[in-house]
Amino acid sequence: MNTINIDTKQIVSKYGFKFTKSLGQNFLTDESVLMDIVNGAAVNEEDMVIEIGPGIGTLTKVLLSKAKMVNAVELDSKLIPILEQELKEYSNFKLIHEDALKIDYNQLIGDEKSVKIVANLPYYITTPIISHLLTGGYNFKSLTVMIQKEVAERIASKENCKAYGALSLLVQYYCDVEVIRKVPPTSFIPQPKVDSLVIRMDKLDTPKVQPKSIELFFRIIRESFNMRRKTLWNSLKGLKLSSDNMTEAFQVAGIDPVRRGETLSIFEFATLADCIYDILGEK
Ligand code: SAM
Repeated sequence: MNTINIDTKQIVSKYGFKFTKSLGQNFLTDESVLMDIVNGAAVNEEDMVIEIGPGIGTLTKVLLSKAKMVNAVELDSKLIPILEQELKEYSNFKLIHEDALKIDYNQLIGDEKSVKIVANLPYYITTPIISHLLTGGYNFKSLTVMIQKEVAERIASKENCKAYGALSLLVQYYCDVEVIRKVPPTSFIPQPKVDSLVIRMDKLDTPKVQPKSIELFFRIIRESFNMRRKTLWNSLKGLKLSSDNMTEAFQVAGIDPVRRGETLSIFEFATLADCIYDILGEK
């Protein structure tokens, strides 16, 4: 049961499976990528893995050979009988025929102590699923995903880089991010138009910063990146603070209001958010 046979094309033709583009179906055919995803996720026999979008089970088989248990969530009804047949020998496999954006992850996780989420994500759900999993307060250790290179770069980017923005700060508030490897279109059937990256997001026990109001912190971040070329002073006008209050907040935070959002670290955003929070509280 532990031999891994990368037979994606064979299984696709055996069942006469027709790909559905709108479901982001690009199946892996490259063994080195499968191994790098599973090793990058550091899956071991103590882990319960949740796989999103198992496809015909190519990555699932490698996960099953390393993990205590794999719960795979697949939306496409055409894939359910194929997965049931191809993975029937694995007693540690459970298939859930649902939408990964709607499923109750708490129910899936239960009392498990070491949960790792692993996926070659369908590209159309990349950002919603990552934000849902991170903001939902679910008890898992890490999220290892293969996603479009551009989105991965936005997630991993630091201040003063072109890709840095609200998504970088959202993910880095909850996680440490590690880039595992680049994957070319030739590693899939059918081939996507873009390069992909595998990244691992390790959930932090406590977020990097503890702003007094998380809502205000993320609102300031969103407004600061709405128009990237604007100064912070102009971007934050929507908060409707008086000029005097704005001047005071920037002064107390020690941040020059002519800077742009893309130059602020997560720590500076937290400081600015707290100074604005204090001023709003005093009003
Ligand atoms: N894991 C397989 C592999 O690596 O070869 C397939 C990955 S393919 C990029 C994405 C998979 O996610 C497809 O099987 C697709 O049907 C499934 N999928 C698409 N939308 C989904 C959703 N909302 N919930 C669960 N699965 C979904």
